[in-house]
Amino acid sequence: MLVHLLIALCCALMTAGSLATAPSSHARTAIDARHAQLGGAGGRLGPPTGAEFCGLRNGGCQRNYQRGVIVWSPATGAQPSYGAIGQTWRAHGSRNGRFGYPTGPEVCGLRGGGCYQNYQGGSIIWSPTTGARISVGAIRARWASTNFENGALGYPISDESCSAGACKQRYQRGVITWTARGGTVLSRDIDVAASSVVVVNKRRMLNPAGYTPGPLVNVGGSLLRSDAAQQFTRLLADARAAGVAMVPVSGYRSFATQASLYASYVNRYGQARADLISARPGYSEHQTGLAIDIGNRNGSCGLQECFAGTPAGAWAAQNAWRYGFIIRYPQGRTSTTGYAYEPWHLRYVGTTISSEMRAHRLPTLEHYLSIPAAPSY
Ligand SMILES: [Zn+2]
Repeated sequence: MLVHLLIALCCALMTAGSLATAPSSHARTAIDARHAQLGGAGGRLGPPTGAEFCGLRNGGCQRNYQRGVIVWSPATGAQPSYGAIGQTWRAHGSRNGRFGYPTGPEVCGLRGGGCYQNYQGGSIIWSPTTGARISVGAIRARWASTNFENGALGYPISDESCSAGACKQRYQRGVITWTARGGTVLSRDIDVAASSVVVVNKRRMLNPAGYTPGPLVNVGGSLLRSDAAQQFTRLLADARAAGVAMVPVSGYRSFATQASLYASYVNRYGQARADLISARPGYSEHQTGLAIDIGNRNGSCGLQECFAGTPAGAWAAQNAWRYGFIIRYPQGRTSTTGYAYEPWHLRYVGTTISSEMRAHRLPTLEHYLSIPAAPSY
């Protein structure tokens, strides 16, 4: 009995003793192991730029590296932070801010090449088209209920912002707002101007494939999403005022319409040629309600390359950007877009993007967003 008591006492003391000296050495081991796991000095973080230091919030330690940091805390272990997500975390006060310590490493391979990292106080999610955005609290919970970036809303395109007791966050295809009184409210407001940045190409199918945009507006017999329709109506009126008889030819096309259109092209020209001049169903920009094919009222050079030299084609090439439209499939860019030159196919991206693309001479949306070319499926 006494022996047992002594053993218990001895070991309790030993445990207490080792606990007192453990944190920094344990942290060092864990930080080194994490660094090695990320490829060591030749890996993601590069070589260390100093020794680790401790005494941080909640008993944490940190070591800095050339391209990031590893932070350790008793509750979260050793986790790395780097790149665009790390930058956003630092902008929010890093471990001392609302996010606290990371609870895991960055995880990539999300839809469209996205990554995320989880923290004690929320999450930061990044994609090539939307950048790094914070995701926290009740708004995050609501977004989670729609299946995160895979769901109806897509990726966040803004951070959560709060004023006058209400918070909101914009997503690619909608908005979530929160008030203490009403909780979260989701609106699939597809007219959110910034949501017009959606990229559809041979490597980026619509999600879901049968996606239908919200309210569509009829402009001269073609349907467009209301933001695009409003600007296209102005474009048509100004072209007319300049003496150019431009007409809309084809706007929104449903998945089913595209399916039969594509099938007819395959029938006529074979699959290789069809893929160069027509999108497979679920891959057409026309299904977004943001694309419109234009023509001359007299039909000259309709849907042919020579359209570029006609009054409507020339006027659109000069002026469409002023209304937020781009020539989506420019000449000599098939290796990026996967499509032959289509001087008649206008895509609404909003005036911010169309102006920037023009100012910086960026020929395609893929160039503008620095996303991979999509020459084939
Ligand atoms: Zn088109």
